[in-house]
Amino acid sequence: MAVTSFREGTAILLFLGVSKPLTIAIDGWSSCGKSTLARQLAQKLGYLYVDSGAMYRAITLYLMRKGVELSDLEAVERCLPRIQLDFTYNPDRGASDMILNGENVESQIRDLEVAARVSVVAAIPKVREIAVARQQALGKAGGVVMDGRDIGSVVFPEAELKIFMTASPEVRAQRRLKELLVKHPHVTLEEVRENLAQRDHIDSTRAVSPLIQCPDARVLDNSNLSMEEQLELASSWIRAICY
Ligand code: C5P
Repeated sequence: MAVTSFREGTAILLFLGVSKPLTIAIDGWSSCGKSTLARQLAQKLGYLYVDSGAMYRAITLYLMRKGVELSDLEAVERCLPRIQLDFTYNPDRGASDMILNGENVESQIRDLEVAARVSVVAAIPKVREIAVARQQALGKAGGVVMDGRDIGSVVFPEAELKIFMTASPEVRAQRRLKELLVKHPHVTLEEVRENLAQRDHIDSTRAVSPLIQCPDARVLDNSNLSMEEQLELASSWIRAICY
């Protein structure tokens, strides 16, 4: 998997007095601002940002387009070798877009149809095996901020900083609705609420690497925090690790 993103970590690491680039794992419930914080931190530190959920979403989009029945595990597994996932840095967003077999699908993978199925796909062991191996390869040199559901527990259990993010269900649903309304003016708050509740349930109860709060994770509840405040809180944790 090829990844193009911006990295300028060396100077910042020297500034922080850290010899080895850090690995920062951000996990938590759906739509509680994980990717916003991960992107902010990566930009601040000059680290690579990897949105692991985008990989599961892109695999889901591929399977949907091919009309694969998600309960047919053999059919799903047969498709996996034909799925090529890449990231390409998009300077307008300050983050990487997801490329599925050469096509930029960043917008399509955010649709509610994908969101409605992604947790079922992400619960399939072979899908996770492949996605986790790629995530580990991307972050093996450190200097990475990765967000997802199992980053601190499975992908990078040795991460120097683990953050578990949460926010009230109402705040999360409102934030997600605002994002979706840009493209889908007819989406309702109830649909969004249901999708988040369904994903959270599947993600936290699946057999393979369910969403858990690692005992060594710092909890960040951003229900009443601004983006600046959550960045400052996470930055204070990084400073505490570095000094
Ligand atoms: O982070 P995002 O909401 O885009 O993730 C979409 C879905 O992908 C999650 O609801 C979850 O089912 C799955 N996922 C996962 N493990 C990760 C990241 C995402 O199972 N590390």
